[in-house]
Amino acid sequence: MNKNSTITLKGQENFDKILQSILGEQQERKDIVLRVTLDPPALCPACNKGKLHKHGILKKNRKPRERKIRHAFLYGRWIFLSWVPVRYKCYHCHKTYTLRPPDTIPWARFTKLGVQTVVYYAQRMSFTYAAQILNLTPSRVIKLLDKYIQFGLPADDTQEPIVLTLDELSFSGNDFVCVVGRLEPDKRPLTILGDDRKATIKAYLEGLKKAGVKVEAVVIDMKDSWRKLIKAIFPSARIIVDPFHVIQDANRRLNEARKIEQEASKENIPRLPLLKAKEKLTPRQQQQLEEIKNKYPSLYELYQLKEDLRQIIKMDRVEEAEIALSRWLINAECAENVEGRVWARTIKSWRSEILNLVRYTQQGRRYTNGYIEGKNTLSKMLKRLSFGFRNRNHFIKKIFLGCCPQNLIPQLLT
Ligand SMILES: [Zn+2]
Repeated sequence: MNKNSTITLKGQENFDKILQSILGEQQERKDIVLRVTLDPPALCPACNKGKLHKHGILKKNRKPRERKIRHAFLYGRWIFLSWVPVRYKCYHCHKTYTLRPPDTIPWARFTKLGVQTVVYYAQRMSFTYAAQILNLTPSRVIKLLDKYIQFGLPADDTQEPIVLTLDELSFSGNDFVCVVGRLEPDKRPLTILGDDRKATIKAYLEGLKKAGVKVEAVVIDMKDSWRKLIKAIFPSARIIVDPFHVIQDANRRLNEARKIEQEASKENIPRLPLLKAKEKLTPRQQQQLEEIKNKYPSLYELYQLKEDLRQIIKMDRVEEAEIALSRWLINAECAENVEGRVWARTIKSWRSEILNLVRYTQQGRRYTNGYIEGKNTLSKMLKRLSFGFRNRNHFIKKIFLGCCPQNLIPQLLT
């Protein structure tokens, strides 16, 4: 059927017939093969002088075998490209060529579009399910991703300064991987490091430096070891603290204090009124918070510190944030609860990284490492999935795919 022809639909019957004429009779999942004939170029592409002539087959007395590779997936079927490889030789410069269709990879079983198709499905569902839909074995899907998914910076893209982000992702207990992404010049995951050990991260950062990558800034969690590492390798990079982690850390402290208070008073203190954002509390939770305020003033003091800190990291003017942060530190140091002083020490040590966050926000560049869409869902899904992965590398490829925004097909190795 010509792609430009118009179809006039007269009810369901007609439509079925048209589909049948495209797909052939209803044989379930029968593959479609497109035979490709390859015409050699008129002149040799190498010397532009000689004409190309058919050049014998590598193995004598044997007919060249037809090559058949997966190209596209339509209506639940694979469309194959098939051709007979023919070798040509230039009589002028003696170069030989084996012609193959454009966008095919030598010896690969899938065209680039074919690989992209598999990646597209594997990005959105489990390997097993993708394999079922694509009529492939799961191990075939995994092998393809292993072979073609590329970690690292996009090619020829090391000139512009980048904003890096480092983040841990846990998938079982204390087993972490480290997701490295960039937020400038565009948002994308770059790699997944197999663990979060200092040596692993160091080796990766040193690799970037060696490749000539210019790092303008790095967004991280409040981890002192990471900060030291980055300062040592990229001394001029600005370090920005990730606002999500500041709140996460605040909530962890608050929750610990709540448990201690609960233990001492032998009374249940509800968790959510304290941890939820103030503006999101239900009337009932507001009331519970009011009770906490009256009954446990030192716990409420920590709550107030958490809410104040939330306001500070949302600010978009450095001078304003500087004043607020100084006031916050005084309040924390004077807090009745000892946790206030411990907390103040941490925030004081991360003062300039918090102000960097505000500084960039002031420039209209709000950086967080929450660029991974639905990260919590992803993390939970991966925990479940990971039981099905005997090979850690496969698991890491799967996380990497999961981290890629769905409109971004990761770079493919060819
Ligand atoms: Zn030639």
